[in-house]
Amino acid sequence: MEATKPSILIIYTGGTIGMQTDPATGALVPFDFNGIYEEFPSLRRLNVAIDVHTLSPIIDSSNVSPDNWVTLARLIRDNYPRYDGFVVLHGTDTMSYTASAMSFLLENLAKPVVFTGSQIPIGVLRTDGRENLITAIEIAGSRTDGRPTVPEVSLYFQNRLFRANRTSKRSAEALSAFRSYNYPPLAEVGVNIAYNRAAVLRPAAWDEPLRISERLADGIAVIKLFPGLDERTLRAMLSAPGLRAVVLETFGSGNAPTSEWFLRVLEEAIARGVILLNVTQCGSGKVSMELYETGLRLQRIGVLCGYDMTTEAAVAKLMYVLGLSLAAEPTQALLRNPLRGEFSV
Ligand code: ASP
Repeated sequence: MEATKPSILIIYTGGTIGMQTDPATGALVPFDFNGIYEEFPSLRRLNVAIDVHTLSPIIDSSNVSPDNWVTLARLIRDNYPRYDGFVVLHGTDTMSYTASAMSFLLENLAKPVVFTGSQIPIGVLRTDGRENLITAIEIAGSRTDGRPTVPEVSLYFQNRLFRANRTSKRSAEALSAFRSYNYPPLAEVGVNIAYNRAAVLRPAAWDEPLRISERLADGIAVIKLFPGLDERTLRAMLSAPGLRAVVLETFGSGNAPTSEWFLRVLEEAIARGVILLNVTQCGSGKVSMELYETGLRLQRIGVLCGYDMTTEAAVAKLMYVLGLSLAAEPTQALLRNPLRGEFSV
């Protein structure tokens, strides 16, 4: 008996992948993904059943907001029992933020949610969108030993599948736009799709109902250190009304100036209840605050270690964890431990 086709829901949110040239005007106009089989007849050979949902309105991903993330999480939750996998088409500019946020918001996820997009519009002859789309669909529908092969939130781009919350957009130009410096690809795509099964996250239970968190905290900021950052500016940033947590982008392996004023300003913020999470400005490598005096000082005053987490994942995680409105201790415990494979200790 022929196994039933996997069913995939494609969710188009906006971005370059959904653009094509209007033959009459030459301008870029949105592509209607409902006509996906007519445009890409080869999709029929994939042996998957595809439905398409286009978010309204579609957005350039620079305009994405946490409200959009909750909308997307609800859409996936509401359709979760009906589909075997999801492909989210998203603008590349903030895809790593949205995909990281989704990895936290979707609790008990046991099905593939594959993000992809393109650098060249799908309606342009040389587009990278066609391959990205077709392979993302194939990955979303892939099963191994009767289970989804990649049951986590991932990001597929230019022959590589990554854990989404490990990615950053690293090129505004190259077709290979995303990097995952600190975690190996979940799959490499050549003639075949070579899955790195040992790297894929397994759900704690396969049949738990998907739950979502619908609250993302505001009051999160990113502060990137640089030589010459002065006391007045840092103090002003850390005294912003409503500030709850800061992703502190430090130097190298988590280092920062040791000057009295610098540590005092941070300490004052921590005393007001502001959470400081240390991630490195380097793409690759991790924060080890005990390595140098410059990092040790931060650890002593209560700055949390972000290990090898990306800024994108750190922002999304802070919004998610603080959105749970837990007491200080469980909040810190969630921040100190990886929840969805977002860092390695
Ligand atoms: N500005 C577009 C976006 O992020 C770029 C893209 O999709 O590649 O929505």
